[in-house]
Amino acid sequence: MVLVRPAGDQASKTAALLRMAFPGSVVTACPNGAETIARAATGMPVGVCCFDLADSAAGALASHVRKVARACPDAELVVLIEAADRAVTADILEVTPAPERLTFLIQPLDMQDAVKSLRAVSARYWAKRRANADLESRDRDVRRLSVEAMEVQARLDVALHAARHDTLTRLPNRAGFTSELTARIANGFQNQTIFLINLDRFKLVNDTLGHEAGDDLVRKIGVALGTVVPPGGLLARIGGDEFGVITESLSEQGIDDVCHQLLRVCAQSRRIYGHEVQVSACIGVSVQKPGQENGDLLRQADLALRAAKREGRNRYRAHDEEMAKSSTKRLAIEGGLERGLRAGQFEMVYQPIVDADSVAILGFEALVRWNSPEFGSVAPDDFIPVAEETGVILELGDWIMRQAMKDCRRWGGPYVSINLSARQFLYQKVGERILRYAQECDLPPEKLQVELTETAIIDDVERAHENLKVLRAAGVRIALDDFGTGYSSLVYLHKFDIDCIKIDKSFVDDVTRYHQSAMIVTSVTRLARALGMAVVAEGVETEPQRQILIAAGCDYLQGYHFGRPTSSGDAAALLRD
Ligand code: C2E
Ligand code: CA
Ligand code: CA
Repeated sequence: MVLVRPAGDQASKTAALLRMAFPGSVVTACPNGAETIARAATGMPVGVCCFDLADSAAGALASHVRKVARACPDAELVVLIEAADRAVTADILEVTPAPERLTFLIQPLDMQDAVKSLRAVSARYWAKRRANADLESRDRDVRRLSVEAMEVQARLDVALHAARHDTLTRLPNRAGFTSELTARIANGFQNQTIFLINLDRFKLVNDTLGHEAGDDLVRKIGVALGTVVPPGGLLARIGGDEFGVITESLSEQGIDDVCHQLLRVCAQSRRIYGHEVQVSACIGVSVQKPGQENGDLLRQADLALRAAKREGRNRYRAHDEEMAKSSTKRLAIEGGLERGLRAGQFEMVYQPIVDADSVAILGFEALVRWNSPEFGSVAPDDFIPVAEETGVILELGDWIMRQAMKDCRRWGGPYVSINLSARQFLYQKVGERILRYAQECDLPPEKLQVELTETAIIDDVERAHENLKVLRAAGVRIALDDFGTGYSSLVYLHKFDIDCIKIDKSFVDDVTRYHQSAMIVTSVTRLARALGMAVVAEGVETEPQRQILIAAGCDYLQGYHFGRPTSSGDAAALLRD
């Protein structure tokens, strides 16, 4: 739409010019200024508005231009002036709110030039329209994107919440726990105290009552723990049967109080799926020192928890200097093991395994010793777990096997029983390797027994099956070590073709003191017999123990009562006596 305000006989001339310039457009001619303004004000779309000076006073024209410019904010404004009217140009420029939309055509007009100019003006109008439309659509895009971004954020928040929370207890999980700890430490809150709470014998609940019962117990304990967490503290479930608490600085007394409360609620008796269930827990505590970081704090609490666990059930330990020292020692052991192996610091000793009735020596258990020039003699309980973690056990284990087989070959008669750690046993083709070493040492496989713990078997049942099959087929005997300290039933373990079980020393210790322990040993022995397995009792230290164990039906015995672990040479001498 083109609006034109021609006057007098100019009207038809100007209208004709515009029609020539814009052949497809509607051209509306208004007889005077007032009507032009009135039309513009109706909101009809105007692309180009053309004014001519013909009869109006310069001031009136300027005012009309201004008003139309306001009413049609997009329109291009074309004003026809006489060459002499330069003053009018200035007037109009001064009052028009958008001088960049103004174009002056100077009369008399050359028709060709005028048409070109008008088309250029119209092109500018359309270009601006398109630019505005682009701008608007970009605005819309930005609005849409920001709505989408909000949605994505909302979804992220939900996902983040899920990632940081445990579905069973609805408490924060390990990720939530550590991010809270990081945040608290980053915010400069000093002296955070953390408690790691691990339930004792939780696996037993899962195994005997089922996972649903286990879940129910964890949920209930989660709720109960929540009631004793100090104000401002955070409770999280950071593992299957492990909870964590973060609190701000507490005095030593405060820590003791919190631990007692936490232990008390864990140990409450609860009704779970119709059963009365009672468990206990151990707690490891660490207190942040100025400048101490997140990772350290958790590691220390974990060390403290493990120390508490080693000491027994239902107790807590706070991380202290001594623990720090022992973990330093552990690190030193880690470094020393490989060097020790190269330097020949390891030695094998042998402890007799005897027939329960005749006390004749039937075999020897091979036990490794480390004589370190740095640390003195290190107990296998201290370095075997480290060797397992670092992987040195594979090389050390190979050395142990070969050494034990060579020594056994020299004795002639009795068999040798070699301990295999879980990592060693689950290593590929360990069965084949053992047989190859036996062949190299010219030792018949019947003179070999391997001792495994329950975890070595159930950590990877399939691989255990493979290794055991190879060994059994060759005539190597399989003994299950430390029986009674794990959770699996004898009937389950029987599936793995085990030849004999070694009843753990902790039961043997108790047989003379508690009638109940003797009863347990008796029934285990009877069941083992029924399943075709022999029974060895470990750690026998006295004659009364031996008597009870014989009565309980044990076939073989081992312990200081019959002989301490000794060198290979002494073992040979023992045989001669
Ligand atoms: P284990 O296999 O249960 O070995 C029996 C442990 O009880 C040995 O401790 C032995 O010296 C000790 N013992 C035997 N009779 C008695 C007794 O009458 N009274 C007392 N108080 N203790 C007795 P040791 O040699 O310190 O070994 C500890 C553990 O280290 C072993 O427990 C075994 O798990 C591991 N270990 C030892 N040698 C080796 C090895 O060559 N390879 C692997 N993988 N582990 C080994
Ligand atoms: Ca053993
Ligand atoms: Ca044992």
